[in-house]
Amino acid sequence: MKKDPKRGYAVHFSVLGLLCVVLIFTMFLYSGSLENTLYADSVAKLGEISEQNVKVLSTTINGQTESLNEVAARIAVPTSWDIDYTLYTLNKVIENYPFKRMGVLFSDGSAYFTDGSSYTMSPENMLAMNAVWDGGTLILGPYNDPLTESGQIISLQVPIYKNDKVDAVLTASYSTDALQDVLNVSFFGGQGYSYIVHENGDIVSDSDFPTSFKDTVNIFTSINDASPDNAPAAEEMRRNMGFHEDGSIIFNNKVDKYMYYSYVGINDWYLLSVIPTSVIDSTKNTIMVTTYFICGVVIAIFIVVLLMFMRTERAKRQQLQDILYVDPVTKGYSFQKFAKEAKERLRTDSRPAAIVVLDIEKFKVINEMFGYDEGDKVLRYIWSLLERWAREGEVYCRRIADKFTMLVFYVTEDDLVRRLTDLADDIMSDRTERRNGFVLRPVIGIYRVIDRALDINTMQNNASMARTAIKNSTGTNFIGFYDESYKATILSNKILEDRLVSALEKKEFEVFYQPKYNTFTKKLAGAEALIRWRDQDGNLVPPYQFIPAAEQNGFVVSLDKYVFKRVCDDQRERLAGGKKLVPVSVNLSRQHLYNPRFIDDYQGIIERSGIPINTIELEVTESAMFENQGEFRSIIDKLHQIGFRILMDDFGTGYSSLMMLKSIPIDVMKLDKSFVDDYNDEKGEKIISCVTQLAKALTIEVTAEGVETEEQYQFMKRLGCDIIQGFYFARPMPRADFDSLLLDA
Ligand code: C2E
Ligand code: MG
Ligand code: MG
Repeated sequence: MKKDPKRGYAVHFSVLGLLCVVLIFTMFLYSGSLENTLYADSVAKLGEISEQNVKVLSTTINGQTESLNEVAARIAVPTSWDIDYTLYTLNKVIENYPFKRMGVLFSDGSAYFTDGSSYTMSPENMLAMNAVWDGGTLILGPYNDPLTESGQIISLQVPIYKNDKVDAVLTASYSTDALQDVLNVSFFGGQGYSYIVHENGDIVSDSDFPTSFKDTVNIFTSINDASPDNAPAAEEMRRNMGFHEDGSIIFNNKVDKYMYYSYVGINDWYLLSVIPTSVIDSTKNTIMVTTYFICGVVIAIFIVVLLMFMRTERAKRQQLQDILYVDPVTKGYSFQKFAKEAKERLRTDSRPAAIVVLDIEKFKVINEMFGYDEGDKVLRYIWSLLERWAREGEVYCRRIADKFTMLVFYVTEDDLVRRLTDLADDIMSDRTERRNGFVLRPVIGIYRVIDRALDINTMQNNASMARTAIKNSTGTNFIGFYDESYKATILSNKILEDRLVSALEKKEFEVFYQPKYNTFTKKLAGAEALIRWRDQDGNLVPPYQFIPAAEQNGFVVSLDKYVFKRVCDDQRERLAGGKKLVPVSVNLSRQHLYNPRFIDDYQGIIERSGIPINTIELEVTESAMFENQGEFRSIIDKLHQIGFRILMDDFGTGYSSLMMLKSIPIDVMKLDKSFVDDYNDEKGEKIISCVTQLAKALTIEVTAEGVETEEQYQFMKRLGCDIIQGFYFARPMPRADFDSLLLDA
């Protein structure tokens, strides 16, 4: 089935599209997961910062408590208190701390402070300080500064011992703002801020960051007030904080914000770290944009590479199409392309049309003798003639070897024949020195297109049949029209081929012997074995009626072997019967040369028959040689080694008979009957004379075939021809007749 190239592209593009979709989808998945990862990273980072701040806070407060303990030890008096001195000492200490004030509290409720103030504590306040009186430390607050009534303070309280008993309490208070200063480390590029809250949400230290909640008392209240949507998040945070767990929420206060809550571990405080989600988003977005950009570039590169790949694919396909559609020798149409074009033109052009095939007789000879370059030149020459010769709408191509096929349009058949004759004349007129005057003889077959729906191949085959018929005919015509009867001939050939097989099985073949005589002594010198077919009706069928068909299907090989075997048997019987033996030549078809294994076969047969090898000779035709000179030579050499004499049959009918003499070592040259027929032609006589002299010079024996008359015999004798085979002496005869001749010999 042929492939539609457009469909091929569509498939390519849909594959490309699908790949792109898959790629883009993968990119989206990837970027989605990347986005999540980046978000989680940012949140984790916020968590880390928060933990960091918690550490800073607790370290600071613990450090201060420690310092207070040291100061308490220092100011403890073994006897009675000198308040002024103590306050003086504390004022010195305060210079190194961010404390708002320090003071000493006594168990009677009196309290003295570094700023000079003093008061008596309420019993509730005293109660709140129980832990310190028990030897612990306390962090109180935040609460309104009871002394200045301005701002909120937190106070640290540690016990002062006297004889291992808590004697008084050292207190240091500082404004909640000071706590904020401790945390005033900027994070996320200055966009993050913190609160310290009690686990119930009450603010310990609020933030002065521009976008933070202002004047807030309880963080949960503020979050809930900011937006009703925040309620679930606030609730979740409240619950977790109740369990002293850390966590994070997103809430909205004009913008979305991210809040991380970390348990501080002091006074059930929580540190809240806040940043607008946009900060996280923008970091993330930068990375995402970069990622999308890289993805885009990757997809673009992928598409470009794929398109380039498709382009080279297309170029390759074009190349392939060129190979398919362009004939490499003429650069014109190939047969495939021709067939396509011809079909189209037959469809659109209603003029009478014909498919014409043209080839050159013995074109192979040009390749073999003058080289393939010369062969190609001839083909291009014919092509150039065709280009000039063809008319509007006609197409043509070189189909194979020297075979050209054309679609032509005509008005009358005579006109068509005239045109083709002109073309043939043009072809023949090319007599270049390069080919030693070898004439390019075209043979032309024409098929008149009757049924335009018929496929071009069939039309072409019909035209070829016409050409073959013309080629095989004996006339001088070189143009022939296809006739329906050709099909019948081919069919009958097929039937003939089948009949040959059964004829061999039924032993319907006989061997006739045609005696050969010594020209000078007129004595029997040998014979040629010639096959005859006595068909079922008892009629003798001559070889020309079946040998060509047998040669075509290769069956001739079996026939030859049959004759060879018969002759060997006949010779053995003659030998056994004490008869005189003369050498008998057996024909060897060119088909054997395609399969040199026949040599062993023949050697086996002759050896088994036990007759001397020189009683059998082999006839080969020079036309066989053109197939492959080297192979031919090696077969002849092998046959020689075994001991066969080789006779060159029909010498002079081939194109290069003389050339052949140079390269193939033959023993006998059998001059073709056509030479003998030329005996009374002056030029012919000169040629035969030269050829026989040449043969003698090369010590090749000469046999004349087809000598029928006394004149011919005398002529051959005069030329020094060694052996005569012809009706003049004897016709081919059955074995019995020949055997009786042997008795007289
Ligand atoms: P060929 O091998 O050249 O055989 C000589 C042919 O010339 C024979 O024809 C013979 O009868 C004919 N001939 C001999 N003298 C005369 C003559 O004076 N006048 C005329 N007009 N003809 C003469 P045949 O027997 O009809 O054989 C024809 C061709 O068939 C042979 O030509 C050979 O090519 C082929 N052939 C015959 N037998 C065999 C065979 O066993 N194997 C093969 N491969 N081919 C065979
Ligand atoms: Mg022969
Ligand atoms: Mg012959």
